[in-house]
Amino acid sequence: MSTSSAPTKSPEQLLKEHGLFKQPVNVEALAEALGIAVKYEELEDDFSAFLMIKHGKPTAFVNGAHHLNRRRFSLAHEIGHFIKHYKKTNRDRLFLDRTLTLYTRKENSASENVDFQMEREANVFAAGLLMPDKLLKEYISRHDLNISDEFDVSRLAIAFGVSEQALQIRLNNLKLAKPNF
Ligand SMILES: [Zn+2]
Repeated sequence: MSTSSAPTKSPEQLLKEHGLFKQPVNVEALAEALGIAVKYEELEDDFSAFLMIKHGKPTAFVNGAHHLNRRRFSLAHEIGHFIKHYKKTNRDRLFLDRTLTLYTRKENSASENVDFQMEREANVFAAGLLMPDKLLKEYISRHDLNISDEFDVSRLAIAFGVSEQALQIRLNNLKLAKPNF
């Protein structure tokens, strides 16, 4: 059963609600608005982040050694867990994110477990949060960008504070770009 069956707010709704619907999305401000404390820590390199909820109080620990764009994505991913997977009835909860859980892309299969489903949902949430459909389209059109052009893609990535890799995946998923592989 999908863990996404409960209605939760979309990234766009959340950002608008908190006056943060503009690029680059202020992901820290959103965390703060949602009551999530954010800490940058020295974590082992293969840890991107984790979200600890203790007595109902959430803290996101992000690997401070990682590149800014990656830290933004990691934090957005943890916000995704908080919004989509944390049930208020479970006061204590821990979501651990190793690099692999954030970046490995696997095929759908019957053996796919709930954890992997949740990781994918958190990634989709994070992409939607950092690169909202409407803001991307608006920016592309306002600046007359050509998303088949490497330079323009790089400009777009900088404007949204994301890696070019994350942006390319998002553009492909939104059918704004043709896969170039
Ligand atoms: Zn995760």
